[in-house]
Amino acid sequence: MHALQRCIAPLCLATFDVSEVLTSCPDCGSLLDIDYEWDQLKVPKSLREFEARWTNRRNPLDFSGVWRFRDLLPFARDEDIVTIGEGQTILQQNTAVGNFVGMKPGSLFLQYEGLNPSGSFKDNGMTAASTHARMVGAKMAACASTGNTSASLAIYASTTQVFKVVVFVGSGKIAFGKLSQALDYDAKTLQVLGDFDDALDRVREVAGERGIYLCNSVNPFRLEGQKTIMYRVLEGLNWQVPDWIVVPGGNLGNSSAFGKAFAELKTLGLIDRIPRLAVINAAGANTLYQLYEEKGVRWDGGMSEDGTIDAFFADMDAANRKASTLASAIEINRPVNLKKCLRALDICDGVVRQVTDQEILDAKAQVGAGGFGCEPASAASVAGAKLLRAEGVIAPSDRVVCILTGHQLKDPDATVAYHSGDAALFESKLGSRGVQRATYANEPVVVENNLQRIIAALEKS
Ligand SMILES: *Cc1c(COP(=O)(O)O)cnc(C)c1O
Ligand SMILES: [Zn+2]
Repeated sequence: MHALQRCIAPLCLATFDVSEVLTSCPDCGSLLDIDYEWDQLKVPKSLREFEARWTNRRNPLDFSGVWRFRDLLPFARDEDIVTIGEGQTILQQNTAVGNFVGMKPGSLFLQYEGLNPSGSFKDNGMTAASTHARMVGAKMAACASTGNTSASLAIYASTTQVFKVVVFVGSGKIAFGKLSQALDYDAKTLQVLGDFDDALDRVREVAGERGIYLCNSVNPFRLEGQKTIMYRVLEGLNWQVPDWIVVPGGNLGNSSAFGKAFAELKTLGLIDRIPRLAVINAAGANTLYQLYEEKGVRWDGGMSEDGTIDAFFADMDAANRKASTLASAIEINRPVNLKKCLRALDICDGVVRQVTDQEILDAKAQVGAGGFGCEPASAASVAGAKLLRAEGVIAPSDRVVCILTGHQLKDPDATVAYHSGDAALFESKLGSRGVQRATYANEPVVVENNLQRIIAALEKS
């Protein structure tokens, strides 16, 4: 196996075998990467070679939108791979949403990861983490989650029966669509009386204490799977590199994986340039935005100003500042992949923006009207693209890909409260959280149970 785990800190760079179960460097505490001895491996000379696998879709590894690209994440033997057909997702050019963002027709694309088996992009990573869990013989796996990670881990465990699962969720905040999945897939579910950041701290302790395999995005194998979202974007664009990738930022695993994917493709000579990356925070959970755009923190070859970062979190704790946004999947104030994301922003000449819940919900309604249902966090990408277009950072004719990270049915409450026209419902779900209006509401029409009245109502619209 020509794969190893490597510490990302340039002054350490310690390496570990892939058979070890680690979520941080035992020497210095930094995050770990999976690294490959590419010169010892057979890598396709052109990305087009991956298309040959479309003809072999009865092989589950070639069917998977993740493992079709297994030469670019070669840490497992084929027989160890755990797949449930993830990654059958689509890149769609969308003129209606492009108009909303302010793009020229034909330049805005949506990468819809809601089509994954559990309804979010998390399956791209969970298939890779599950594969590693099988490689090391894990009996039990765990994660903390704002919802989608637990839904994903639960579906992998129940479909494959390779290991048992316990999921930790913060109390109160989790969207019901997501909670229902963990319960339905029969995962042991612990509702920790705290928020996501608390749940993650506890699950890390428990995993360490009990030798349970941890599947949060501190797991470097998970991010290997998430690289393939970018391979599929390139595939959808006939292997042309777009100008921009726009992605919501929560724990920053996705943005980190995207940066690594492009750096590797460039090193391997499979692409000739790297797109720019825009990571979009919710204004109520904007740690990355504050550090990167306001305090000027940079990767700096791995030597980033830890003093500034530490002081930022110390202030946050002193003020007891908690993340707060309706976009529950990105309601995270302590992004675990912060350093890796800074590296990705460096690789991709990136920018970070924040958008309000109002902007997120309005963008979500436009995405829906344009044909793709997404959950609130996903729409942050479209709201962020609109903001960057308004600022002139994105040009009208740039090719822009917004990642829609999760399916609309994950969080129907937010959608119904926005559209229903029920003032009390709006107030309790959205108004109380600072949303002023439902700009693009599509209100249901109440009509008497009577043919004439129904026809009259139809004629009115
Ligand atoms: C997990 C998640 C995110 C955040 O992704 P990170 O990799 O944690 O930054 C965004 N949207 C949805 C739907 C998610 O499930
Ligand atoms: Zn280290």
